[in-house]
Amino acid sequence: MSRRLMVAGNWKLNKTVDESVALASAVAQNLKRDDLDVLVAPTFVAIHPVAQALAGSPLLVAGQNLYWQDKGAFTAEISGPLLKAAGASHVIIGHSERRQFFAETEKTVNLRVTAALQAGLTPIVCVGETLEEREANQTDGVLESQLAGGLAGLSLEQAAKLIIAYEPVWAIGTGKTASEDQADQAHAAIRAWMGRRFDKAVENSVRILYGGSVKPANAAGLLNREHVDGALVGGASLTAEDFLGIIEAA
Ligand code: PEP
Repeated sequence: MSRRLMVAGNWKLNKTVDESVALASAVAQNLKRDDLDVLVAPTFVAIHPVAQALAGSPLLVAGQNLYWQDKGAFTAEISGPLLKAAGASHVIIGHSERRQFFAETEKTVNLRVTAALQAGLTPIVCVGETLEEREANQTDGVLESQLAGGLAGLSLEQAAKLIIAYEPVWAIGTGKTASEDQADQAHAAIRAWMGRRFDKAVENSVRILYGGSVKPANAAGLLNREHVDGALVGGASLTAEDFLGIIEAA
């Protein structure tokens, strides 16, 4: 089954509003591919101006997180309806930096995934093992428990809307990339789990992005693998040249 590729840029805590608009505009203006989805995830404050600058372009905009309550006395939080109204169509959930630095758990990932779906946003759910877990041969078990917890209670219909990102923690921002075989094997394990938990249609259609030091030089090999349906890019999404280089290589 052919799945449409996605190249997504997670800008993390980088770029002012003006810099974000300039970067998004440069990517949009120089984008030559229309056979894949391209997405950028700016900081919350830049989502609306970036979405406005991209109006009429095929680029998609995502939040980097969301809170599960829609509104109320939750100082500093951002909800699904607010993201949607600001112009986002997708939202990254459960990034390893959120799990590591902000005490996110499978339970809170699950609350966020459910809230995103309710708001009409497409969740990009991140899973991945640490180096210790990989070396202890626990990769598949860790991925399965993150998926089971993060996707608990979802219906088939909801599952069909998800995007999963496999991001081995040891490869994020470290310059170490999973080998093409390591990535493809982990993606295959995630896909098989989705088939067992949901159904064959979800197994075949769910897009699984690879994240972890993707660069123009290694993108082609990774993205050509059977179970790798795109990339979630951190560092190399911060310049139009590198991000477009990955898109061109895909
Ligand atoms: C990420 O944070 O999602 C990521 C993959 O970062 P990097 O590309 O910098 O490793």
